[in-house]
Amino acid sequence: MEKHEYMAQCEDHLFHVYNRFPVVFDHGKDMCLYDTDGKEYLDFASGIGVNAFGYGNKEFQFALENQIRKLLHTSNLYYHTSLGEAAADVCRVTGMDRVFFTNSGAEAIEGAIKTAKKYAFLQDGKNGQEIIAFEHSFHGRTVGALSVTGTDHYRAPFYPLMGGVRFAKFNDFASVEALVNDHTCAILMETIQGEGGIYPAEEEFLKALRELCTEKDILLILDEIQCGMGRTGQMYAYQHYNIRPDIVTTAKALGGGVPVGAFAVTEKVAKTSLVPGDHGTTYGGNPLVCAAVHKSIDMMEELELPKHVRKTTPYLEKKLQELTDKYDFVTGHRGMGYMQGLILTIPVADVVKNCLKAGLVVLSAGSDVLRLLPPLIADEEDFDRGFEILDSVLSEF
Ligand SMILES: *Cc1c(COP(=O)(O)O)cnc(C)c1O
Repeated sequence: MEKHEYMAQCEDHLFHVYNRFPVVFDHGKDMCLYDTDGKEYLDFASGIGVNAFGYGNKEFQFALENQIRKLLHTSNLYYHTSLGEAAADVCRVTGMDRVFFTNSGAEAIEGAIKTAKKYAFLQDGKNGQEIIAFEHSFHGRTVGALSVTGTDHYRAPFYPLMGGVRFAKFNDFASVEALVNDHTCAILMETIQGEGGIYPAEEEFLKALRELCTEKDILLILDEIQCGMGRTGQMYAYQHYNIRPDIVTTAKALGGGVPVGAFAVTEKVAKTSLVPGDHGTTYGGNPLVCAAVHKSIDMMEELELPKHVRKTTPYLEKKLQELTDKYDFVTGHRGMGYMQGLILTIPVADVVKNCLKAGLVVLSAGSDVLRLLPPLIADEEDFDRGFEILDSVLSEF
């Protein structure tokens, strides 16, 4: 089939919920994607932070192939041979004690919310628990996750959402304190806001939240779905801050492209919250995704990708600074590791579109941030090549 035929088939049959770019990807290798015309695209988006190892990694494929041949699915009524290993891996790298596997990021958020509600319910036997979340946050598209997402345009058509959610200002501790009351069961935030425009939590702010939560027995839930799994130069971004959350949500790069998420909790939370019958999933943690999680974490550690990201980030930031110095309509950049935003006063959607035409895949975040989430294997040469394309695209504005 030809490009326009693939596109037409999709448009004829898919529920029109995405405005897709007019490109049909066929395969990938290392840092690059290839479309049906054989055109090469350097990837600085990783399928929204998923493809940490780039494309076509043989070792990863081999691990998945082995699992596919043995067993794909069992349900959670039984043990299987890949489950415990993947669970131990997630506990080790998050620093948590127990994990529940989900099929997506949004479902990890749902599980975290239910855990926090049950934890509070067991303290006082009362319902009416409240959650403090943040303005401009993004936690997913299911009704529960949308209820804690602080961005109006995602929410507006769907009221009433889950009640009991209050929104504070990110990096503004006083705005959080003002919302805390006897019903508050959890504070939920992204360690680095992703969709909202790449805003890292300030160290003082996150440490103050940790103290407040400990003092009042409120659960601190950190959403690391986008910023976790090595992206910032630590396995999880909160490890830069030397704090331990009560619940962590993780997904995106967790399965290296196989759809899997998880929420992980401390022993204390696990002991006084969900029990058999409270929560479940048919697919969650099935043999295929567990093989993917185990191999992803294994490769992340073997290749020392967090260390590689730490080492190469200054080079990436230098490149971002060069564009900031060169163009008046580039007003700055911010981020951590391989999660970076370039702040623009020109329409970011046009920049993303023109980059794609020029063979560079990038993302936007909000209306004014060009977002870069390159695969974690990206090195200086890849950045040289990508920024040359980006520079030439920007020079046309
Ligand atoms: C992508 C994302 C989600 C939602 O994950 P899905 O797998 O799309 O449901 C939640 N939180 C953050 C921070 C994300 O970036």
